[in-house]
Amino acid sequence: AEIPSDLSAWWMPFTANRQFKGAPRLLVSAKDMHYTSHDGRQILDGSAGLWCVNAGHCREPIVKAIQEQAATLDFGPAFQMGHPKAFEAASRIAALAPGDLDHVFFSNSGSEAVDTALKIAIAYHRARGDAGRTRLIGRERGYHGVGFGGISVGGLSNNRRSFGPLLPGVDHLPHTHDPKNAFSKGQPKHGEELADGLERIVATHDASTIAAVIVEPIAGSTGVLIPPVGYLQRLRSLCDKHGILLIFDEVITGFGRLGAPFAASYFGVQPDMITAAKGLTSGTVPMGATIVRKGVHDTFMQGPAAAIELFHGYTYSAHPLACAAALATLDVYRDEGLFENAKKLSPAWEEAVHGLRGAPNVVDLRNLGLVAGVELAPRDGAPGARGYEVFVRCYQEGLLVRVTGDIIALSPPLIVNQAQITEMFGILRRAIDSVS
Ligand code: PMP
Repeated sequence: AEIPSDLSAWWMPFTANRQFKGAPRLLVSAKDMHYTSHDGRQILDGSAGLWCVNAGHCREPIVKAIQEQAATLDFGPAFQMGHPKAFEAASRIAALAPGDLDHVFFSNSGSEAVDTALKIAIAYHRARGDAGRTRLIGRERGYHGVGFGGISVGGLSNNRRSFGPLLPGVDHLPHTHDPKNAFSKGQPKHGEELADGLERIVATHDASTIAAVIVEPIAGSTGVLIPPVGYLQRLRSLCDKHGILLIFDEVITGFGRLGAPFAASYFGVQPDMITAAKGLTSGTVPMGATIVRKGVHDTFMQGPAAAIELFHGYTYSAHPLACAAALATLDVYRDEGLFENAKKLSPAWEEAVHGLRGAPNVVDLRNLGLVAGVELAPRDGAPGARGYEVFVRCYQEGLLVRVTGDIIALSPPLIVNQAQITEMFGILRRAIDSVS
């Protein structure tokens, strides 16, 4: 098809983005590890789309399940009714979730899963007679989607400034990035005391006003920041000490990215809630999930507080197409052992990531499971320019990566193999070498 030269004329949100300059980058089809671009090139997917296509692209069992569902039950109201696949999907998710997290609240995106979790936290305390616990704690450089809840607890100051005043009563823990840990392989050894930022907040605001702490186990979108050894454990014990709920936002880390169903299982830290999306349906039909334990769920949906004063639900909660997609995706993960594949390839991945050491302008390399952050030094007076050029060069050479400022993130579909990892880092290395 003809590509209009001024793409921003017809699709504002992305094409008007100032970074969409030059030749259009349009993807027209995809299969397994590759996209096909509008000019007929094969593009190796180094970012699982937007960290979501964990099962690989256009997988037959998932496609078939969506098609069959569309022809069988296209929609079913989620209020006062249900449909079997909703319950099946919830029970399959609960079976993967760590510890006693066995209830699932469905939504349509990571942002909605986060807003749901924040509301559940406040409702939970209120139902227990603790109505004063409304403060929410996020973390600097945290990303929790684009809803007002998510940007309030999120740690991107530009977002918070631009849309303020946002939710009242929000504080932020310090982020976990420490240049002293540059080039650490896996989890950095030092920095667990960063979790003590919570004690400083408690000292100012009193623990009895705080409902929940929300963190991504690994901060993804803001540059792949790996938590130091002991950090999440310390956060858990401080939350226990002060009666604060701990929410892990696993929109990126959920469904196998670290070689385990969730980062919570990988790190051996039990949160009170998990938010998930993306990999749940492998990027096919949009779906979000907030996973909680029964005691928390009941105060929200069935307890006295729920009966008299609150309502929460989406028209498309547990949409039949999303449930069918989720079930087929979870089957693929299980049948093909994809979480195990991620775990098995993690050492080779680590080696490939750290093979970039010494490449021009590379100032840090971070990795865990099948995720990596490659940080480049910003060019004088033009932060983000170098990262963007590397991204464009990779795309021209047939590799899709994610770029945020001068940080390149990689998170391939979990069907990736050793040869593709080698190819990926070969292209990335040449791109970095070629950009001054
Ligand atoms: N939380 C995290 C940790 C995310 O990475 C994202 C998306 N990148 C979101 C929430 C928001 O998800 P969505 O874009 O599906 O609303």
